[in-house]
Amino acid sequence: MSDAAAGDGAGRTDSSRTDVNRTDFIRQIVREDLASGKHRAIRTRFPPEPNGYLHIGHAKAICLDFGVAAEFGGRCNLRFDDTNPAKEDPEYVAAIQEDVRWLGFDWAALRHASDYFEVFYRAAEKLIRQGDAFVCDLSAEQVREYRGTLTEPGRNSPYRDRSVDENLDLFRRMRAGEFADGARTLRAKIDMASGNINLRDPAIYRIKHVEHQNTGDAWPIYPMYDYAHSLSDAIEGITHSLCTLEFEDHRPLYDWCVDKVDLAGEPALLQPLRDRGLPLEAAKPRQIEFSRLNFNYLVMSKRKLLALVEDGLVDGWDDPRMPTLQGIRRRGYTPSALKLMVERVGISKQNSLLDISILEGALRDDLDATAPRRMAVVDPLKVVLANLPEGHEEFLSFPNHPKDAAQGERAVPFARALWIDRDDFAEVPPPGFKRLTVGGEVRLRGAGIVRCDEAVKDADGNVVELRCTLDPESRPGMEGANRKVKGTIHWVSATHGVPAEIRLYDRLFTVPDPDADEGGRTYRDFLNPESRRTVRGYVEPAAAQAAPEQSFQFERTGYFVADRRDHRVDAPVFNRSVTLRDTWAQKG
Ligand code: ATP
Ligand code: MG
Repeated sequence: MSDAAAGDGAGRTDSSRTDVNRTDFIRQIVREDLASGKHRAIRTRFPPEPNGYLHIGHAKAICLDFGVAAEFGGRCNLRFDDTNPAKEDPEYVAAIQEDVRWLGFDWAALRHASDYFEVFYRAAEKLIRQGDAFVCDLSAEQVREYRGTLTEPGRNSPYRDRSVDENLDLFRRMRAGEFADGARTLRAKIDMASGNINLRDPAIYRIKHVEHQNTGDAWPIYPMYDYAHSLSDAIEGITHSLCTLEFEDHRPLYDWCVDKVDLAGEPALLQPLRDRGLPLEAAKPRQIEFSRLNFNYLVMSKRKLLALVEDGLVDGWDDPRMPTLQGIRRRGYTPSALKLMVERVGISKQNSLLDISILEGALRDDLDATAPRRMAVVDPLKVVLANLPEGHEEFLSFPNHPKDAAQGERAVPFARALWIDRDDFAEVPPPGFKRLTVGGEVRLRGAGIVRCDEAVKDADGNVVELRCTLDPESRPGMEGANRKVKGTIHWVSATHGVPAEIRLYDRLFTVPDPDADEGGRTYRDFLNPESRRTVRGYVEPAAAQAAPEQSFQFERTGYFVADRRDHRVDAPVFNRSVTLRDTWAQKG
């Protein structure tokens, strides 16, 4: 079942962009909390770990976190969940901010979980004093042995009953850097027999003598995710902490941390932040889970995306075949297409693998409505209109968009020699062929009807030029202009057309589930060798003039974008964003 059909987003599969009265279960909760007076204003956050580039899945979380806040007059923070120093990098921090802004969102406050390290530490001492946490000397392997399984309860650590004083002393010495990595942990004292393994005395601090991008070498101990994340939410006064379903089983621990530390009830814990002038609004947050976004024909885990980059299987994080936001942006995806996709997919608690056509369809629909039309020839074959004089030149007026007169018109140069696409001609036409054949006629879009008199060949027998006659009665405005012929093809003046590099991108993987490990094969074994083909074609001058990142529909060919890095007016480079129709559906 697709998310869209899974219930919570019921009826939200249409494409309406203006409807802000969304009815998914999260917005329903928010609406009720505001109506009941539980919250006067809502606060959300988007909490990426800066260990990679954001991908299409994150777009869903971003649209939800920032979107819900905006719709209900609340605020959304961007918080870097930087509690794991080894994997984090300032390059990612910068890219994440750029991506969120590109999607059209801005944060109320920019925070780092590491801003709160001192608060986390003091809160941990509080837990120790309450008898809710203890220092444990078991090794990682022993901890695993003591943990039990889904069917068997765990066993208490032999260090569980240490006195408060001993625990405080050891924890302070952990902080002072006295012990080696892994020698001890601070663990929450909850319940080793709990049916939820997350509650079996989980570690909340570990020793790690590693430098941190934000705090340098100030800390030899680092808080664990559940502890840091729940407290960060509480510190920032997050009312609705939206996250993906895999955290559902962590919610009891999230609540435990928030309740036991009780920041709102103990303002002194927040003094280190007050001293630094950080505005605070401690409150009790509620975690709500929703399904992850997953598409077939893609891999979306940061680890695998990193491997694709590091092994040179793609050209970096912004390779237009990558599902990173940087990649699909370069491919020609627009923020509005992504928002449309998120809208169509809806919000639910049903994890599912969605069909990539939902993503591609959203881009087609967005660009169909907005992208100006241009003519471009991807695989050029020369046509000479023998009955026009040498040097013939005229400028034909074309609408920029067939359904949007407000986009105005442009002048398209027309000359004696033209380029057409090679597959619009057939020497031996297959049955039903409607385009140009020797002796046959075709309409040149907006210019008139031509008959092909001869196919000129080179020594090897390849067709290199078509000699044609333009019917003078079929020119625009003439009486014969509407004369019926079977086909209409696009063209570019060979005199005026601008040579362009055209990158024909396609799906990176050939199979719907490149992660399915059958017989030891991995996603690397399913790379599509045709995922990028670079050709040289010709575009009409008005296409060459594009600004980087401008999108067009190249008529009859597909949607293309001027490459944001490489495109120049005098040396155009276009990326195919998506074909006009879903060509994979037919391959089946
Ligand atoms: P990955 O598994 O790809 O490494 P992650 O979940 O570790 O991603 P984070 O940086 O921790 O990535 O994620 C930041 C936020 O984005 C989290 O709230 C997470 O739930 C959400 N998120 C990540 N991936 C998806 C996805 N595929 N669909 C929806 N939300 C996602
Ligand atoms: Mg994560």
